[in-house]
Amino acid sequence: MEKTFAMISLGCAKNLVNSEQMLYLLSEAGYTLVPEAEGADFAVVNTCGFIDAAKSEAIDAILELAELKKRKRLGAIIVTGCLSERYRDSITQELPEIDAVLGVGSFGEIVNAADAVMEGRSLQRFASNSAPVDEIPRVVSTGPAWAYLRIAEGCDNYCAFCAIPYIRGHYRSRAMENILEEARDLAAHGVKELIVIAQDITRYGTDLYGKRSLAALCRELGQIEGVEWIRLHYLYPDAFDDELIDEIASNEKIVKYLDIPIQHINNNILKAMHRRGTGEEIRALLRTLRERIPGLVLRTSLITGLPGEGEAEFEELCAFLKEARIERAGVFPFSPEEGTPAAQMPHPDPLTAQRRAELVMELQARIMDEFCESQIGKELRVLCQDYDEESGLLVGRSWADSPDIDGLVFFEGSCPPGEMAEVLIDAAEDGFLYGKEVEA
Ligand code: SF4
Repeated sequence: MEKTFAMISLGCAKNLVNSEQMLYLLSEAGYTLVPEAEGADFAVVNTCGFIDAAKSEAIDAILELAELKKRKRLGAIIVTGCLSERYRDSITQELPEIDAVLGVGSFGEIVNAADAVMEGRSLQRFASNSAPVDEIPRVVSTGPAWAYLRIAEGCDNYCAFCAIPYIRGHYRSRAMENILEEARDLAAHGVKELIVIAQDITRYGTDLYGKRSLAALCRELGQIEGVEWIRLHYLYPDAFDDELIDEIASNEKIVKYLDIPIQHINNNILKAMHRRGTGEEIRALLRTLRERIPGLVLRTSLITGLPGEGEAEFEELCAFLKEARIERAGVFPFSPEEGTPAAQMPHPDPLTAQRRAELVMELQARIMDEFCESQIGKELRVLCQDYDEESGLLVGRSWADSPDIDGLVFFEGSCPPGEMAEVLIDAAEDGFLYGKEVEA
């Protein structure tokens, strides 16, 4: 009889790669993925536990499944990912409906967990979260024609507000040959855009090769036939050297879009948060990047209400954003995470942090609108993603848009999803661009 499961993948792209690996392992073991948990033999929730909002989302998802299980519409619940790692001692006491739990170092045991719950047994596994990265194949669930390429796991930066190093363990690079083999395989299956991810990609290679090796990796990725775009996510601001900047500027396949989370600009806050580098160094870096990489679009993430952020420090952040005109930004109110040094430090109240986040989002929305308007009249290369029934238009992304977090380009034309189109932009609205396909 068919053994079925549903997969709920929460949180970031790095977690999604683990979900894709579990999909591979389960399907190889004869389990069949179904779209809905209702009626399945079991459901896997791959959780995020990074900040409060993510924890609540994960707990809500588990409680919803628990309700299905109570009504006998679901056989069992397996929980994996950051929430299970972080609350390994209490998760099954708090949520007794859970049948099996795997920590982040044990997601490769998903088939054992599935076999156990199918036999009515419970199972818990928490291997080291700092062991070398498991080289497990995956079923790519993104696309068409784009996929994440994870190059490392864990983080050694220990920013004072962040729980990730405690959850995901020390920084471990994947061997370059394994990454390249995976990239070649993705390209052979039609992937045109590789989105290079890790908690911090600038540190890539320091543990394995004794030196920063992101530029060398990008050079090799750029040689792979079929790969047209390489997008770089999460570059730590103090880790740019000339070699990396030159590679980004000269490698035609690297899209001129960089995601550099700066978190704040005030020196005292950066220092208290154990961030390396000063506000002046961040300003200088952004100036250098814009000078040396024409057409560069920048993305960052920011936290409002960090310990030490009074009105003056917040004003400094806003003034910086007006001057730096960073095209894309994610803004989060400070979440005091248990076990992190920042949680013990006095900080603005949550309402103030939230209000400031909203003010920054308004400010950034204006900057983004101006950027979008500046694209009108230009011809952009767009990776066509889909046909949008509602508008009757094709929809895709330009170099300036990373999936799920940035805008989209809607256009008239005949380009099949998964292919590249040249699109003449004739309108912009609410972060979206509109245009018509033209001959390349
Ligand atoms: S670089 Fe800092 S914010 Fe990013 S994952 Fe590492 S510790 Fe967290």
